[in-house]
Amino acid sequence: MLGLRSTIDNAILVNMASPYEIRVFGDPVLRKVAEDVTEIDGSLVELANDMLTTMYEEPGIGLAAPQIGISKRFFVYDLGDDEGPKALVNPVIAESDGEWLFEEGCLSVPGLHWEILRPKQIHVVGYDLDGNEVSLEADELLSRLIQHEFDHLDGVLLVDHLEGDERKAAMKTVRELFIMPPEEPEPKKRLFGGLRLP
Ligand SMILES: [Zn+2]
Repeated sequence: MLGLRSTIDNAILVNMASPYEIRVFGDPVLRKVAEDVTEIDGSLVELANDMLTTMYEEPGIGLAAPQIGISKRFFVYDLGDDEGPKALVNPVIAESDGEWLFEEGCLSVPGLHWEILRPKQIHVVGYDLDGNEVSLEADELLSRLIQHEFDHLDGVLLVDHLEGDERKAAMKTVRELFIMPPEEPEPKKRLFGGLRLP
């Protein structure tokens, strides 16, 4: 009885855990231009919910489909304000204006932050998960978040916004942290190699 009970508890725990692993720098899916979503249906809604669970667990405020290995043009976000969780499907940034320097991080490059210059305000259009058209004027943090997630749909990462020595230093850091293989262990010495024992 106890055994059965604990199996059920484990099953519930597994079910509640994040269903996706976030892909990090070096994963080729993060460099692909994602494809348009062709159908907004129940499976997309389910996927968006799973992505939100994954995002909240990190915690993060935005997550694009390529970051969980799905090369489709949509992302979820939640600024933690009254708006609640949102999804934007096949977004297009129709207009942008102003400039704003702001420190950005990324769940796919965990632990690192850079000051990135981007337009301050944007006008973005797209679809929500009901298939309704969305037309949104965004400023400051929301604008920043949407531009960041939009970049993921085009295979663009934060380091691509840096220039010159700053970019070189950032690339070196991310390569060391996420790409370089660990040092090869010393090959074991074959102490008796070739030695004929009587
Ligand atoms: Zn990101």
